[in-house]
Amino acid sequence: MDLGLKDKVVLVTAGSRGLGRAVATEYAREGAKVMLASRNEQELAKTAREIAAETGSQVEFVAADLSKRDAVDAVYAKVGERFGRLDVLVTNAGGPPAGTFDNFEDDVWEQTFQANLLNVVRLVRGALPYFRQVGGGRIVNITSTSIKQPIEGLILSNTFRAGINALAKSLSVELAPEGILVNTVAPGRIATDRITELDGLRAAATGLTQDDVRVGNERQIPIGRYGTPDEFARTAVFLGSYANTYVTGQAVLIDGGMVRAL
Ligand code: NAD
Repeated sequence: MDLGLKDKVVLVTAGSRGLGRAVATEYAREGAKVMLASRNEQELAKTAREIAAETGSQVEFVAADLSKRDAVDAVYAKVGERFGRLDVLVTNAGGPPAGTFDNFEDDVWEQTFQANLLNVVRLVRGALPYFRQVGGGRIVNITSTSIKQPIEGLILSNTFRAGINALAKSLSVELAPEGILVNTVAPGRIATDRITELDGLRAAATGLTQDDVRVGNERQIPIGRYGTPDEFARTAVFLGSYANTYVTGQAVLIDGGMVRAL
């Protein structure tokens, strides 16, 4: 299948490692040009170099803390300067701190709103003029299976990712007439630094070893193991490709069957 991504321009936020990096790499393998945005310039430069070397595609980067409005503006300035167009936006961000209701005061709620929901609003706002210029676009939001089944001890993530999902569904209706398709991909347990960190926190809280935590989690997954970033990226990239012409407003769980909800 031709994904129709050759020479398309893709912006991937929080793209220096983990799921964002895997998605950016898969786009580059399909011949797309990629702009990576994340906070750490050195890490970004290294990731961009490695993806370009592996795929032969053009990979640019911009250092930006995407919880800040000015940073989002700077990202689009760089997209304009380097590529002058945009065809696909992949929104991703670092995960909010783990904790329960009693752990957080207003300041953390406010900060998480900026970093994990308002960032998506601002990124979409910045992408639309580019999409309108080329007469269409694709948006893929990376969230979590918590959009279907809230996860214990992750109250901030549960709340704001549900917001992204509702935003994406609304946008899919508003933007379909313009040829802009909007979908959400929800990872379950894909082996990245974030999952290692969460397993470590659980191990510390329960007195289990990290291996025991992982084995326990794997028992909840019908496929019997954590997913790989590449497995995650293949689904995300199809949804955010030009081979996808009829799927919009969907939230696809990439979780090895972990969530039991219909
Ligand atoms: P990760 O920790 O491996 O990578 C996170 C990325 O976010 C890094 O590139 C980091 O530099 C970037 N980042 C963090 N804060 C940022 C900011 N303010 N501005 C710009 N960039 C920032 O995490 P991951 O596993 O790749 O997960 C990506 C997202 O998916 C996270 O929000 C995570 O909570 C969520 N998620 C992941 C899984 C999974 O299975 N890995 C499951 C559920 C949800």
